[in-house]
Amino acid sequence: MSLFYRSFFAIFSLGVLLQGARGADRSSEEAEAAITGYSLPSIWQPATILPDDAEAQAKWQSISGSIPTNISGTPTGDFSDVSYPTDDPDCWWTNSKCVIPKLQGLPPDVASVPEPLTLGYGFDDGPNCSHNAFYDYLTSQDQKATMFYIGSNVMNWPLEAQRAITDGHEVCVHTWSHRYMTALASEDAFAELYYKMQAINLVTGVTPKCWRPPFGDVDDRIRAIANALDLQTVIWKYDSNDWKVGTDGVTAETVDGNYQSLVDNAENGTFSTEGAIMLTHELNNYTMATAIQWYPQLKAAFKYIVPIAVALNNTQPYVETDYPMPSFEQYISGETTITNSSDSDSTSTSISDSADTGTETQSGSASTSELKASSTSTGQASATKQNGASLVSPDIGSSFWVALAALGYLTF
Ligand SMILES: [Zn+2]
Repeated sequence: MSLFYRSFFAIFSLGVLLQGARGADRSSEEAEAAITGYSLPSIWQPATILPDDAEAQAKWQSISGSIPTNISGTPTGDFSDVSYPTDDPDCWWTNSKCVIPKLQGLPPDVASVPEPLTLGYGFDDGPNCSHNAFYDYLTSQDQKATMFYIGSNVMNWPLEAQRAITDGHEVCVHTWSHRYMTALASEDAFAELYYKMQAINLVTGVTPKCWRPPFGDVDDRIRAIANALDLQTVIWKYDSNDWKVGTDGVTAETVDGNYQSLVDNAENGTFSTEGAIMLTHELNNYTMATAIQWYPQLKAAFKYIVPIAVALNNTQPYVETDYPMPSFEQYISGETTITNSSDSDSTSTSISDSADTGTETQSGSASTSELKASSTSTGQASATKQNGASLVSPDIGSSFWVALAALGYLTF
């Protein structure tokens, strides 16, 4: 098939209707080229269950009975005329920063991490077309993080999303089109989460079990939908406000002040019994440059900086069990990347020799600066092989062509 014909075909195929891609073999160009099988909404448009998507419709039917219908939600992004009871019956975070659901059967949101002196390190709104310098920096520090990806960005920049998995970062859901979730009808809120999970699985092979609501806008109705999709809600207690610079009077100095405040808290014992999560972004060059600028100070102030799954001791962050994360003990012992044989259940470590001190407790004195011995190159090589993600340079061209490449329609 000629390149032209492939491209022509892809234009009409992409995002229309593909079948059978879930859990597909991505170990070769040929296998990736054979991946079909996803119905996906238009990028940056609010997601709805697509009329020809029987699988999504069946999934929604199976959970819709458990979603409360007495929680009405809010107008899109405009809370000025919202009348809401002061006793916060819906545990609406936007109103009250509530993180303990009032609805029976829902787990609490993750707003901090249980490990003392620890920063659960995460970034929202990626992947970003220009994130290589940032990810290179994290790699140079052997630092893994939790990336809350927007589905539309994943489809725009799939190779960047693949890099996160290959680099050993954790990937969580940040919805399909980044709307205020409590403003959506339940079926549409479901679609925002469901199609984002599909997009991540299509591009990287993993299906996340964690999500973060855009703007923190979540209530018990939205939590119930996420919970039915086996997604843990992750929020934050500290906000860098890096995403807001240039609006609402927020300046770079404001953001520096917020970072400094977190550093001060870390140094004055605020996190001596439980660790912190701060909202920061992979949104643009400014937010990523600021993250790089402040990393050394965070590293000096906190005893440990780890992905949120690691801080929670969650070694299986995905539906697929062959993409494990290290335990907290493993990570702080220097084993920041875990590789698993895809054809066996046994776990092998990328730095097994130095990881044999795994019995060390968190009271051990390992500082993050001492953890640099772990082998990023070995880990990455293993992860690349493991995940089958072809690491073509993310800078190769426009997002459209990159998307086609990731879907296997082009080979170059
Ligand atoms: Zn966001």
